[in-house]
Amino acid sequence: MPPVFRFAPSPNGYLHLGHAYSALLNADLARAQGGRLLLRIEDIDQTRCRPEYEDAIYQDLAWLGIAWEPEVRRQSDHLALYRDAVEQLAARGLIYPAFESRAEIARLVAANDVVAPWPRDPDGAPLYPGAGKELAPEQRARLIASGVPYALRLDMAAARAIAGDLTWREFGEGPGGETGEVAARPEAWGDVVVARKETPTSYHLSVGIDDALQGVTEVVRGADLFWSTSVHRLLQTLLGLPAPRYRHHGLIRDADGRKLSKSTAATGLRELRAMGVSSEQIRRMVGLPPAS
Ligand code: GLU
Repeated sequence: MPPVFRFAPSPNGYLHLGHAYSALLNADLARAQGGRLLLRIEDIDQTRCRPEYEDAIYQDLAWLGIAWEPEVRRQSDHLALYRDAVEQLAARGLIYPAFESRAEIARLVAANDVVAPWPRDPDGAPLYPGAGKELAPEQRARLIASGVPYALRLDMAAARAIAGDLTWREFGEGPGGETGEVAARPEAWGDVVVARKETPTSYHLSVGIDDALQGVTEVVRGADLFWSTSVHRLLQTLLGLPAPRYRHHGLIRDADGRKLSKSTAATGLRELRAMGVSSEQIRRMVGLPPAS
């Protein structure tokens, strides 16, 4: 069976040089290994995703000379499937609704920080400080019926106890040089959000389901997602999904060493294309050898 690669951008902005690197690396590896390359549009966040960004993804990738298989998977077409997975987790008592707003969470964290620094996840966001897990079933039912927004969070301790110790096979490198068989540390993320009242899924949940359904065997993506893989392995295990192989690659940085942003014109692919930069020059700019 040929290896299956995928590039999975979110249409919430225009692609930049970092995306070009990731997409080209996927395409190069797929070609070198006689593999397939799929494209997936990760558009579950309907408040931030826009059709013009999705159109621009197709244009930019075509300009880069990347050939993906014609059937593109759009996550927004599969919400019922993600909802089923959430229900499976709920039926096993592994998720609970949490009703605190973002502002309330910030207040709780600030109050806790006074006592001792409140733990942060690998992205630097505070772990969930709220009391959702302790609410009685009738309190939950009453709040849900009242129509207030909520997030469905994974009971990390319970999930971890079922799944046991997990690892993944890393062919690239983590931020601390981790490679080979890497021990997953999903507990570092606390009780992560797996869905919200208005969105029946989350990045962490959908990515594992889609990789499995699309038969993806090789996940090649930026090192900023390295530690997210811990959560992906946990959810894959709970849902009985296979684990692909992972290759996290270094990030392209701007002249000041900062991570690229979708809104910076200097490194936007459309802007570079409009300036007459060629796809070969883009390959050089991101440190890839000329196309063979
Ligand atoms: N959609 C994610 C992003 O644009 C990438 C997800 C992945 O490659 O796993 O950052």
